[in-house]
Amino acid sequence: MLWKGRRQSDNIEDERSDSGGGFGGGGPRQFRVPIGGRAGGGGSIIFVILVVLAGWYFGFDPSQILGEGGGLVPGGGGQITEDSSSPDSGAPASDEMKQFVATVLAETEDTWSGIFKANGLTYEDPKLVLFSSQIRSACGFASSAAGPFYCPGDHKVYLDMTFFQQLDQQFGASGEFARAYVIAHEVGHHVQNLTGIMSKFNQMRQGMGEAEANQMSVRVELQADCFAGVWAHYTAQKGILEQGDMESALNAAKQIGDDTLQKKMQGYVVPESFNHGTSAQRQTWLARGYKSGKLSDCDTFNNPV
Ligand SMILES: [Zn+2]
Repeated sequence: MLWKGRRQSDNIEDERSDSGGGFGGGGPRQFRVPIGGRAGGGGSIIFVILVVLAGWYFGFDPSQILGEGGGLVPGGGGQITEDSSSPDSGAPASDEMKQFVATVLAETEDTWSGIFKANGLTYEDPKLVLFSSQIRSACGFASSAAGPFYCPGDHKVYLDMTFFQQLDQQFGASGEFARAYVIAHEVGHHVQNLTGIMSKFNQMRQGMGEAEANQMSVRVELQADCFAGVWAHYTAQKGILEQGDMESALNAAKQIGDDTLQKKMQGYVVPESFNHGTSAQRQTWLARGYKSGKLSDCDTFNNPV
């Protein structure tokens, strides 16, 4: 992705040095992936991976939903924001990664503002919080092991950038645009929050059993993938995608599919426990959004997935 020199979002909150202070009360609010017992030798590794999986699920706590769907005017400004913040974040690699994240976030802001406007709506920019180790959000405490997440209660995406290394080394999903896809997926949840899809999901899942709630969750997640594809569609139109970018994103979607991850981590799959979708489903919906750029092609609730 030809991102250098493009606008960087000023909606980044860098909290990498002070991470909210421990797991004292309440406990983490992540969803557990419901996979039955028998964690053998690699139990703790499996657990970490499952928490990562769970992290992709993200904070659907009904009590956290504000539900008013907007009101804030997107912070405009076409300026490139200089990183004059935290002097402690000295590592150049990390700073470049931060700039990349800020640029991708800015691209999502521009794309979604345009789409909302075209539909007579106002897009409210989400914040993106960079953290290390652990963080306190409106959705509770979270650890880096839970992976990036979106909290509907405070309209923020939470990201520990070490996840990108994990994505590369552990999940076999390398490439810049694989990372962009992760961010765009979380922003997709924000779009679901603003449009009321997420609160509807929360209402519906109240009366559901676990298996049924998982199926519903898959539809929510696949839609976020499709929205990430819609974003990629418009990003491609700007001429800033490079050869292999979309392939990186599609490969990431494949590597983090429920079936692929479960096979890799535990050697077998438990389809009832899928809550993000299979590799094939995730690739299909990401590609679908990418192909047309139309939100109407992302209706995972009224179409077979
Ligand atoms: Zn998700």
